[in-house]
Amino acid sequence: FRKLQPSSAELVEGILAGNITALSRAITLVESTNVSHLAKANEVINACLPHANKSVRIGITGVPGVGKSTFIEAFGKYLTGLGKKVAVLAVDPSSTISHGSILGDKTRMEELVKDKNAYIRPSASGETLGGVARKTRETITLCEACGFDTIIIETVGVGQSETAVHSMVDFFLLLKISGAGDELQGIKRGIMEMADAIVINKADGDNIKKAQFAKVEFNRALHLFPAKKSGWTPTTSSCSAITHEGIPEVWKTIEQFLELTKGNNYLFEKRKEQNQYWMLETINEQLKLNFYNHVQIQKLLDSTKKAVQNDEISPFAAASLLLKTYFKD
Ligand code: GDP
Repeated sequence: FRKLQPSSAELVEGILAGNITALSRAITLVESTNVSHLAKANEVINACLPHANKSVRIGITGVPGVGKSTFIEAFGKYLTGLGKKVAVLAVDPSSTISHGSILGDKTRMEELVKDKNAYIRPSASGETLGGVARKTRETITLCEACGFDTIIIETVGVGQSETAVHSMVDFFLLLKISGAGDELQGIKRGIMEMADAIVINKADGDNIKKAQFAKVEFNRALHLFPAKKSGWTPTTSSCSAITHEGIPEVWKTIEQFLELTKGNNYLFEKRKEQNQYWMLETINEQLKLNFYNHVQIQKLLDSTKKAVQNDEISPFAAASLLLKTYFKD
């Protein structure tokens, strides 16, 4: 006995009606590795596309312990309090290794989980970060079609995942905490450059003064970067995810950003660019996956690697040999 699965048309109908069960089922299809599931997922996404694109997409990054979950809980509750519908998604690079996710953990967002205007979905898992990120990108479309007007995408401040998240959001927020006056240490230039706002969290109790100093230092550092194409000047502010001080201001900043970038059309142009990026990324991803899963390639790869190690064949000739083998079929 097999439970009848809803058709793609039924899923679309459910999603457009704001049905969370339909949404979750469709996301499960997106995350599946089963070819027929993926075909169905594509149908659903295509049908949702005309109803998507209307939300604001916010990326949030920061190292573990900086307070991302606590911040998203407070920020998310603030937004649902304003009447918004908030979806929280995650891109977790560690899910490619452990197949378990440390982000989007519902136990750390207790209040938001209970909120009927919020939807929290942990990171997809997958073989590659690109794959994990693509699934999140597709999930955004489904959430938007389901009526979520604010999409928050969480990622950890290690590795390549910020770049992937930056390529799917309108606004990129870097969460920090104040240190011992060495704020800029260990922070990657690339991440600073992507940030539309730096928010120093845990600005409460004894930390308030330190957070003020950190703000000044980050502000100074941000001004050393060239002006952004968006015309937006990145901001620095502080907040406490515990006392909620400074949380409304974060939303105010995002509203100002939206006003500017809708006015100068940057928001829409960037989304078009991002769509092209995801098309090409998906092609790259698929080609690579197919290549390494190809029977002939799997047979030849190890011996060819050894031959390259032993200088029996140049790396370039070896690559070209393998590629020829792949494309012959
Ligand atoms: P994540 O790993 O970035 O998601 O961080 P968490 O949200 O799990 O927070 C890590 C720790 O910092 C937890 O013990 C939180 O209670 C604490 N924390 C988070 N935000 C704040 C804040 O604004 N002020 C203070 N004092 N502690 C916070």
